[in-house]
Amino acid sequence: MRKSIVAANWKMNGNSQLVADFAQTQLQSNVAEIIYGLPAILISQAKSLGLKNIAGEDVSANKNGAFTGEISAVMLKEQGAEFCIIGHSERRQYHGENEKLLAEKWARLNEENIAVIYCIGETEAEYDAGITKSVLERQLNPMLAAGLIDENTVIAYEPVWAIGTGKAATAEYAEKTHQEIREIISRQSADVASKIRILYGGSVKANNAEELANMENIDGFLVGGASLKINEFKQIIEAFK
Ligand code: PEP
Repeated sequence: MRKSIVAANWKMNGNSQLVADFAQTQLQSNVAEIIYGLPAILISQAKSLGLKNIAGEDVSANKNGAFTGEISAVMLKEQGAEFCIIGHSERRQYHGENEKLLAEKWARLNEENIAVIYCIGETEAEYDAGITKSVLERQLNPMLAAGLIDENTVIAYEPVWAIGTGKAATAEYAEKTHQEIREIISRQSADVASKIRILYGGSVKANNAEELANMENIDGFLVGGASLKINEFKQIIEAFK
């Protein structure tokens, strides 16, 4: 039985007041793990106010040194992060991140025992060309070959065309793609493929969460815009009963 996860990704949004509001509300679920992906500068405050399951949104591929502006896995750990998102499409698109770099970031996180939330997904052009599965193979295979994916990994499938557009994937399409992801992982380990949590991300809102959550292979969500609104995020969490 895979425990559901509902993870927030605040991106470059939010502030100390919003952290304080979420900390005061203390959203709860008996069935889903709630994770807060926060700008690194807010992590320490979130932790000290009692928010649990904090995730960084990115990490440096380097351990330390002359890398102005970057944040290391050691620093994330010290501030209290237990998870870290890597490979978000905004990092791939605006910062040219590829699998080679992401494998290095992943290794840094493993050294600090920070669990990885690895984002994958096709662009609109790749979707239109019908090559989603080969894109997912391109994004997953190097990580499988490097032995980085295990049952504690969290995969976030986020079709790029659905992120921040209000145009979520249909539940059927997301379910089919999650099955394909499990199939790709099962080529290396059927056991890991059956245990790994695969989240859907891309315009998840209170009004579509339940239909997506009912799908067998959708083990949770990575939520951007709607994770900034306490009430809406609460309703999304409640989609997992
Ligand atoms: C995301 O940033 O990971 C995301 C899914 O954003 P949104 O929910 O706003 O589409």
